[in-house]
This record gives sequence, structure tokens and C-alpha cells, in this order.
Amino acid sequence: MTKIISVFNQKGGVGKTTTNINLSTYMAQLGKKVLVVDADPQGNTTSGFGIDKESLEFSLYDGMVNGSDLNEVCIKTRFKNLDLVPSKPELAGAEIEMTAMKNRELLMSVFLKNADGIYDYVMIDCPPSLGLISLNALAASNSVLVPIQCEYYALEGVSQLMNTINLVKRGLNNKLSIEGIIMTMFDGRTNLSLQVVDEVSGYFGDKVYKTVIPRNVRLAEAPSHGLAILEYDEKSKGAQAYFEFAKEFIKRKGDRI
Ligand code: ADP
Ligand code: MG
Repeated sequence: MTKIISVFNQKGGVGKTTTNINLSTYMAQLGKKVLVVDADPQGNTTSGFGIDKESLEFSLYDGMVNGSDLNEVCIKTRFKNLDLVPSKPELAGAEIEMTAMKNRELLMSVFLKNADGIYDYVMIDCPPSLGLISLNALAASNSVLVPIQCEYYALEGVSQLMNTINLVKRGLNNKLSIEGIIMTMFDGRTNLSLQVVDEVSGYFGDKVYKTVIPRNVRLAEAPSHGLAILEYDEKSKGAQAYFEFAKEFIKRKGDRI
């Protein structure tokens, strides 16, 4: 069965896109069929894969607003087992256009119907907001993967995030669950990072993954070259952490590697 997972946190800069690109490419390397959906109008996932947004004929916008088919919109990446629904800046305008549309919260869900049975995992990269695109992503998903950055006020905004998830559960998608919490940008040299992991574990219990993603400059450099970390620097601490995370993620889903 295809599992649809939103990588979601309404805060920006917490590692959603970095997690989506690197978790997805490692899962694909481990033999899982993965579809990455770039649902952020900024298109950082699309450019992170080295894809020139100007050259794209179709994007998620067409799938959601114009009713284009997944086959039309989806592109193959240079990674085996990994396809992408790219994003273009026009998606930003979609939030306004969609407001007047019927079933406006379910457009992504309808668009992704044809992914069912084709992929093991559909990984949706959400924008940093609680707007209509994020609601569409949550309505289309089985679960939510939440990256939380190891910094002061890490839990700030978490109650709002939980409220949104509960709202979607009540109104649009009662099967939505929390997939897990991945701690990002951990700095082993500071007590702060450890304290934050403790605090978040106190709140979310065993939903927090054992793997913690370190702050690692190679992870920040890779997207500017249009590369995933497994291509850019496979030996880096960041690469090793995302590889471990991919294995933990798959195992926890009860899926075989
Ligand atoms: P989001 O998608 O939540 O906005 P990003 O994944 O784009 O967050 O990350 C925000 C910034 O931090 C980016 O410049 C990214 O390259 C950088 N970054 C993300 N994770 C790490 C990490 N583990 N170590 C160092 N830099 C990181
Ligand atoms: Mg992002």
C-alpha cells in the first residue's frame, strides 16, 4: 500500500526540505519506490534536485488547479526509484485561485489518487505556513513527519501545529496520524541541543526518532549544487545521519529494507 507522508512544520528553516530530499533519496537507494511532491511555491526541493524550474512544462499547480494528470506532471529524476512532482512560483497564486474552487482542500488528494499502488512512499514537502496548500497536503496524507530544529523555543508553535493536525483530522481526514519527530541541526558541543531533544522527547515520547540529524555544513552546501547529500559527500556526518534515519524510518513503518 502507498503511504502518503507530509513533511510538515509551519516554521520555516527547520529542515523540512533537507529532510525530504535526503530521506527520499536514501529510501530510493534502499529500493523503495518514492514520489517526492514539492508543495512549496519556493520550489527548494525542485532546485535541490538540480532541476531548472524555468524549463518545466507542468508543475503541481497544474495538477491541483487545472486538473492535469499525475503522469503529465510527474518527472523522472536521475535517481532510480525516485520521481518528482515539481513546483513553480505560480503555485503561490494557487492559494487564492483555489479559494473559489469546489472541494478546495481536497485538490491534492484527488491529484495524488493515481500514485496509489505505484509508489511505496509519497513524500510531500510542505510550505512554511498553515495555508490552503498545507491543508491540502495534510488532507491527502496518512501521516505527518515533523522536523524540529534543536534551538531555543523548539516547542514554540508545536501546539499550533497539533491544533492544525487535529482540525484536519476532525474535518477532512480522520486517518491522519503523527508519523514521527526528527530532530535536526543538532550541535553536540552545546548543552542546549541535548536539552531540546529531552524537552521534545518529554512532549512526544517515542514518536521522536533515535537518529538525530547533526548540524553539518555539507548538508547546507549540497542543494546549491543541485545535489542530494548521498551524491555530494556520502562520507559526511550529515549523509551518515540521513542514511541511518532512512533505515530507522522504513523499519519503524514495519517495512522491510
Ligand atoms: P525548511 O524546508 O524547513 O525551510 P530547509 O531544509 O530549507 O528548511 O533548511 C533551512 C536551511 O538550513 C537551509 O539553508 C539548509 O541548507 C540548512 N540546513 C538544513 N539542515 C541542516 C543541517 N542538518 N545542518 C546544516 N544546515 C542545515
Ligand atoms: Mg522548505
